Amino acid sequence: MSLRKILTWPDPRLQAICTPVDVITPDIQTLANDMLETMYAAPGRGLAAPQVGELQRVFVMDPTWKEGPRSPLICINPDILDRSDDRARADEGCLSIPGVTACVERPNSVRMVWTDLEGLVHDRWLTGFAALCAQHELDHLDGILTLDHLEDAQRASLLRAYEAQG
Ligand code: ZN
Repeated sequence: MSLRKILTWPDPRLQAICTPVDVITPDIQTLANDMLETMYAAPGRGLAAPQVGELQRVFVMDPTWKEGPRSPLICINPDILDRSDDRARADEGCLSIPGVTACVERPNSVRMVWTDLEGLVHDRWLTGFAALCAQHELDHLDGILTLDHLEDAQRASLLRAYEAQG
């Protein structure tokens, strides 16, 4: 396994729509394991393939590892099938927009389907922070960042703060 370089805004690869994975090749397995290692080292709770420059529909997450044992999830070709009506707002950080957070509102629960590294399909309702994480990472596969959820004025002020860090 090896660490991958995490791309940061405004790298254009962060705005690309990623391609579905047809076959889980050894390259995909290596990518997923490298992404997990890179996520834990960052340290972060989720990482999507385009953040390391691979435009494929893969993300990894482990929303609670900082508070307890590690329970990594590798999600290939994830899709959200259903969303709760109740929504929640939270300050979200992103490894590709370091140093700032954006307050984003999302459904509090989502039903997500995904394939794991062994090719098994999972279909599960996620709620709370896990749902937030999954939606954030899935957004990356469609080239959407936290700042794309903001109104113009909020987005401009976030980018000003981001750029002021040098
Ligand atoms: Zn992110």
